[in-house]
Amino acid sequence: MAVGVLALQGDVSEHYEAVKRAVGIYKFNFETKYVKRKGDMKDVTHLIIPGGESTTISRLMIKNGLYDVIRQKAFKGELAVMGTCAGSILMAKNIVDDSHVEPLRLMDMDIRRNAFGRQRESFEADVEIEGIGKYHAVFIRAPIIEKCYGGCKALAGIDRGIVMAKQGKFIALVFHPELTEDTRIYREFLKI
Ligand code: GLN
Repeated sequence: MAVGVLALQGDVSEHYEAVKRAVGIYKFNFETKYVKRKGDMKDVTHLIIPGGESTTISRLMIKNGLYDVIRQKAFKGELAVMGTCAGSILMAKNIVDDSHVEPLRLMDMDIRRNAFGRQRESFEADVEIEGIGKYHAVFIRAPIIEKCYGGCKALAGIDRGIVMAKQGKFIALVFHPELTEDTRIYREFLKI
């Protein structure tokens, strides 16, 4: 079994290092690998889609065929997927007011890109995450989840909206777990 970090653009190496740390701390039996092309997905049971630019990541994913492979494995129930920041945008069924990104549409949620505008491009806040507890979160040009419906469930929120959600084997968070030492979110993901 392998944890794959989608390595097309964005915070790739930071996630890779964080996964390795979590695997060591919690003694999971996972290999950690970079996913750049279709063939890399073979033994991947858990995929992380990093933060970066959702437009770029979606374009490259479609171009190299990963878009279809990820969707097929995910809908067959063979793949857990965690999308962070730009990655969370790609998890959504619907991106509000935006046609530049083709999301994977794995989760029943509406998400808005760059929801905090220029004044508040990045900030940190303590959030209360269901099943984890208090967590110090780093937001960078973050989207916001405006609505969860169907099988999607909100796990954490701030005044502006939902910041973390889960649907079966899929998790979306609009902040950056790879930028702090706290590995609890990786632990919960690898437990799936
Ligand atoms: N604003 C970026 C986007 O819309 C996401 C920012 C990030 O991942 N840090 O794709």
